Amino acid sequence: MLFIVFGTKTKTEDVGGGEFYCPSCQTRRKFTRKRAKNYFALYFVALFPLNEAGEFIECQHCGRSYNPEVLKQKLSKPQPDVARLLQNVKTRLENGYPVEYMVRDLTDDGLDLDVARNTIEMAIGKQRKTCPDCDLTYAPNVMGCADCDRALRSAQE
Ligand SMILES: [Zn+2]
Ligand SMILES: [Zn+2]
Repeated sequence: MLFIVFGTKTKTEDVGGGEFYCPSCQTRRKFTRKRAKNYFALYFVALFPLNEAGEFIECQHCGRSYNPEVLKQKLSKPQPDVARLLQNVKTRLENGYPVEYMVRDLTDDGLDLDVARNTIEMAIGKQRKTCPDCDLTYAPNVMGCADCDRALRSAQE
């Protein structure tokens, strides 16, 4: 972990500031960029993965200190679940799951209708194939309707 606890005697100077994503607060916070001033402090912080200048980032809200690398993280909360959800949606749709059923599943999971449709569009694009019998739509790579076994039509035809 990047947490660093400094003794109260450690002398530091402020060398900058801004906003960052604080891993502890799990949201966007103001930070102060500080530099450890004396040898002892440098020796001390060298035990931790600080950068060469002995600088660290302190969250103004929770007061925790981090390696300046923390600034490379995105300002918003990381959302690995979105990537996983998209991959899951894409896989299921490309395996022949009807778009309409996927919309229903996603809205059942608590997504707004618009968000559900956007999610599907992000996963497989705008193109659809349509079943001539039941009007269910599918990802463009799907060949047959899951419900009635009919060959699908491209939307452009
Ligand atoms: Zn914080
Ligand atoms: Zn059908």
